[in-house]
Amino acid sequence: MAAVISIANQKGGVGKTTLTMNLGFALADMGKRVLLVDIDPQFNLTFGLIGMRVLNHADRNVGTLMTRESEIDESLVRVRKNLDLIPSHLNLSAKEIEIINTYNRERRLEKALLPILPDYDYVLIDNPPSMGIFLVNSLTASDYVLIPLELSYFGVIGMQLMFNLMRMIREETNENLKLLGLVPNKFTKQTKVPKLRLKELKETYPDAPILTTIPRAIALEKAQSEGKSIFEFDGKSRAAKAFLKLAKEVVEVVEG
Ligand code: ADP
Ligand code: MG
Repeated sequence: MAAVISIANQKGGVGKTTLTMNLGFALADMGKRVLLVDIDPQFNLTFGLIGMRVLNHADRNVGTLMTRESEIDESLVRVRKNLDLIPSHLNLSAKEIEIINTYNRERRLEKALLPILPDYDYVLIDNPPSMGIFLVNSLTASDYVLIPLELSYFGVIGMQLMFNLMRMIREETNENLKLLGLVPNKFTKQTKVPKLRLKELKETYPDAPILTTIPRAIALEKAQSEGKSIFEFDGKSRAAKAFLKLAKEVVEVVEG
């Protein structure tokens, strides 16, 4: 049965999509069966993985799955060995109002994913940078939350918003939701600030596991713009090594 992990942060540009993609590839390379779910109306993950083929999925994507206009099997795309995708689509934002007005609106994704959970080891959900119905669906369907963040002042204090939302989800729809950990991203040794912020992060949230730090690397940006994982782009880079280490850490926590 798959472990379902939401990659979430209400802040944009912190590395959610980068983390989802590269963690997905790392786990697939380790022989795990991985399903990526793109629930961000900006469909960056989908575009990175299947490019213009996203246009073929107007009537079979994560949104139509949630409104029951498509079945799970027809909404799946095989990306490569061990790696499948449920794509987002440009019409996803229009589905938001429809979903808000349906019965059991917080559980639309959870229910849609249920039949295929036995087919995977990991389901990774890439989330939009907002706290709306898509993120609520994602957290309700998840066993774990993985939070990438930048080590900036607002990056650190912004964690409180995520923790508040997680508490609400635990009270209302999913009492089993666990924090897998925080992933400090875009780390640089060029100034002292990130290191100080890391210390601050540990002091402010002593109960939150802090996982492998991902370095700031141009290679990640270039890889993303070419729709490649860091392993395909430059498998020997520090960023690739960091993601591999993170994947092992995730497996260790989830599989024990
Ligand atoms: P989000 O999904 O949270 O909005 P992205 O994963 O799209 O964030 O990342 C935002 C931008 O930052 C992208 O251009 C991405 O390539 C870049 N980026 C992410 N992580 C790193 C990193 N560690 N080093 C350099 N650039 C990064
Ligand atoms: Mg994104």
